[in-house]
Amino acid sequence: MQDYLVRAIGEKERFRVFVAVTTNLVNEARRRHDTWPVASAALGRTLTAGLLLGANLKGDDLLTIRVNGDGPLGALVVSANGRGDVRGYVQNPQVHVPSIRPGKLGVGQAVGKGTLSVSKDLGLRDPFTGSVELISGEIGEDIAYYLLNSEQIPSAVSLGVLVETDNSVRAAGGLIIQLMPGAEENMMAELETCLKKLPPVSSLVDEGKSPEEIVKLALGNLEVNIIDKIPVHFNCPCTKERIERILISLGEQELKDIHETSGQAEVICHFCGEKYNFDGEELDKLLQDIKE
Ligand code: ZN
Repeated sequence: MQDYLVRAIGEKERFRVFVAVTTNLVNEARRRHDTWPVASAALGRTLTAGLLLGANLKGDDLLTIRVNGDGPLGALVVSANGRGDVRGYVQNPQVHVPSIRPGKLGVGQAVGKGTLSVSKDLGLRDPFTGSVELISGEIGEDIAYYLLNSEQIPSAVSLGVLVETDNSVRAAGGLIIQLMPGAEENMMAELETCLKKLPPVSSLVDEGKSPEEIVKLALGNLEVNIIDKIPVHFNCPCTKERIERILISLGEQELKDIHETSGQAEVICHFCGEKYNFDGEELDKLLQDIKE
């Protein structure tokens, strides 16, 4: 199945729902960063959260999630736009922690204690940033806590990544249900009761359920209308030209030093793992550009 996200609105606009299937893009992130299972799960959940939260943005607006835990994974950084593009990395992709039980990776332990912050660049002068303490490091609970405490939106969040014994990603996806302003108090309790009966999203994706089917399963008898469907991808906007600009910004002396000590430069994009090579001739040209 292709990765995509759906947005849906509940009866009388009392709540909205976002569901995404992200198996392919989480696998792409795993391949690019060579993540081990617990890192694939932590990064995959955060990438999925980025897309689900990003679904509220306009096309070019950017949202960045930073999870700064003191666990062995180090920081996780994900950025998404409103068009279904997401990219991200984990500081230490090759980490192993004991599983909680067979099939249940110890994501919370691998992330540790710390903070989760979300910044939104909406093209205004100052980006909005909100930050909360990590509740469990399991990402889903932390995102729900962030939405309630920083954005005052009562939400239910479920994120899941199922990793195969060969380390590939077998299924990934997520769901966010948000209460709209003015909804009755008991609505959240009703939504939470529905969700308690729902199997983990990753199991549903593994069974081949589509985002639309997951919306229906999650909400039981509550009426809900799908309003749109957006394809989602791992996509990093880095290019050789952008990396050239970064090298130029290092300044003449720094670039000269690189040139003299190694004769060439290899720059790796943090976000996507893409390698950019600059040979001696290209470095000469960049030095020339700086002089001009
Ligand atoms: Zn990149």
